[in-house]
Amino acid sequence: MMSSLFVNEPATDFSSAANCEKMKMALEAVRRRLGKRYPLVIGGEKIETDSVLSSVNPSKPGEVVGYVAMANTEHVSQAIEAAGKAFPAWRDTDFHQRVEFLFRAAEKMRQRRFELAALIILEIGKNWREADADVTEAIDFLEYYGREMLRLGEPIGLGNIPDEKNEYSYQPRGVGVVISPWNFPLAIPTGMASAAIATGNAVILKPASQSPVIASWLVDILLDAGIPGGVINYLPGSGEQVGEFLVKSPLIQFIAFTGSKKVGLKINRLAGDTFEGQEAVKKVVMEMGGKNAIIIDSDANLDAATSGVIQSAFGYQGQKCSACSRVIVLEDIYDIFLEKLVASAKTIRIGSPEELDNFMGPLISEEALRKVERYVEIGKSEGRLVLGGERIKTPPLFSPVPPLHPHAPSLTLPACGEGRGGGTEGGRKGGGYFFSPTIFVDVPPKTRIAQEEIFGPVLSVIKVNDLSEAIAVANGTQYALTGGIYSRNRANIERAKREFRVGNLYVNRKITGAIVSRQPFGGFKMSGVGSKAGGPDYLVQFMVPRTVTENTIYDE
Ligand code: NAP
Repeated sequence: MMSSLFVNEPATDFSSAANCEKMKMALEAVRRRLGKRYPLVIGGEKIETDSVLSSVNPSKPGEVVGYVAMANTEHVSQAIEAAGKAFPAWRDTDFHQRVEFLFRAAEKMRQRRFELAALIILEIGKNWREADADVTEAIDFLEYYGREMLRLGEPIGLGNIPDEKNEYSYQPRGVGVVISPWNFPLAIPTGMASAAIATGNAVILKPASQSPVIASWLVDILLDAGIPGGVINYLPGSGEQVGEFLVKSPLIQFIAFTGSKKVGLKINRLAGDTFEGQEAVKKVVMEMGGKNAIIIDSDANLDAATSGVIQSAFGYQGQKCSACSRVIVLEDIYDIFLEKLVASAKTIRIGSPEELDNFMGPLISEEALRKVERYVEIGKSEGRLVLGGERIKTPPLFSPVPPLHPHAPSLTLPACGEGRGGGTEGGRKGGGYFFSPTIFVDVPPKTRIAQEEIFGPVLSVIKVNDLSEAIAVANGTQYALTGGIYSRNRANIERAKREFRVGNLYVNRKITGAIVSRQPFGGFKMSGVGSKAGGPDYLVQFMVPRTVTENTIYDE
């Protein structure tokens, strides 16, 4: 029986040997399924295509995780038609029943959580804990949005005029498209798709081309849970072709997008055009990038701050929209903080994410590596490179420097009771896309490496005179996603809460890892539209409100 109280799905405890064993078995099981074919799913029908996309393991790019069918524009039209046919019945399905399907899907994910995490490790190179967090966040979205729909589904009575009845209720928008990024390959498409489906819409999921296999597993889970074919359609393919064709369709009523600013703004512009046969203004729900900063105040606990910055900047190789890419440090503690930061970054273990010991794995692609390299070159003329800045062909077997701070365990935690110094064969062979943690210091705040989203393990350290300057620098980009401050000064913390204007501000902790319902997530300015995922305003974006007024003394 579903509890009405929402509770976050707990993380897997990898200090338990039994859980480690389950993860290893799941990795083996998923490995046995590598190289399978994944068809499109339109109206519940599985469709193979001539053109196929190979999704590869970024730790070993020679290894194909799956061959995924690639949709063309004809498939887009078929999918829109299938979704259009499925929509009326789904809209009219009692919302309690719709929500039941979401809870069933959550249960199926729970049962397969190790397998799903293993696939995430292999397809996009997250480490065990990050992959596990991706799965728990997906489960949370299903459970949370289900309960949100139960809250929003009942009509509200308004006014207290005698003989007049006013009802305020929500109806779904219609057929929509969900366009997701690769860096949270399960959580983000699950979140956007489940919000759309719970509210009674029919959707077409266009996953990122680097993570289509996990998206295919997601669609199978949703269909298995009983969501009708046509309500969820799976349409992998090129963003520029399939994605854009979907966005421009006059029959699409909304677009839920998470990805880069560049693509988001283009989608927003295209969605603003009106095409022949279009009946509704398209709604765009958009989450985009960030250039997130952590301020280190003069009296901060520098060990805790070092640990928080390292985790925020280099967790999943800096490939999170919430990642810290700027540290703004008060001048009086600048040198000592830098010393700790660089020493701590040198302790990071890099290698195959298939081994729990490794904190950093590969970047997602050769293209991502090249982009990071370009920024490193730019950075050399803008700041002073003090660490990293290069590809790693053979990740080190063992980090030479012990961790500085006791709260930095996940950088170097021994795996499953095993001894340290285990090999990183996955990362040592096969030319994975590994890049070293990279730190630039003395970076002026308006330079490119301090303003543009790099989406890799590149951190800029900026020196400031006082908190006023720190806050001005922190706010001085076009983004407003996450941010943080380490301080022991209550007045300074309160001031940062008021003046450091980002969607998610964190005090004395890392700035990544927002939890559904506890820290609704999303930014504003060029980071998105601000109606946070995993929060109480999210579902409303997928619906339109209606008011019905009845004269209750009407006499026929
Ligand atoms: P991306 O390049 O913008 O791609 C995102 C999605 O858009 C992919 O499915 C992509 O398909 C598709 N796409 C590309 N061009 C398109 C077009 N012209 N029309 C329609 N769709 C198109 O982003 P990404 O590299 O996958 O993800 C990283 C970015 O996402 C970063 O900027 C990060 O900050 C942001 N992000 C934001 C949040 C948040 O909550 N704010 C969360 C996660 C990530 P293809 O893969 O086929 O190109």
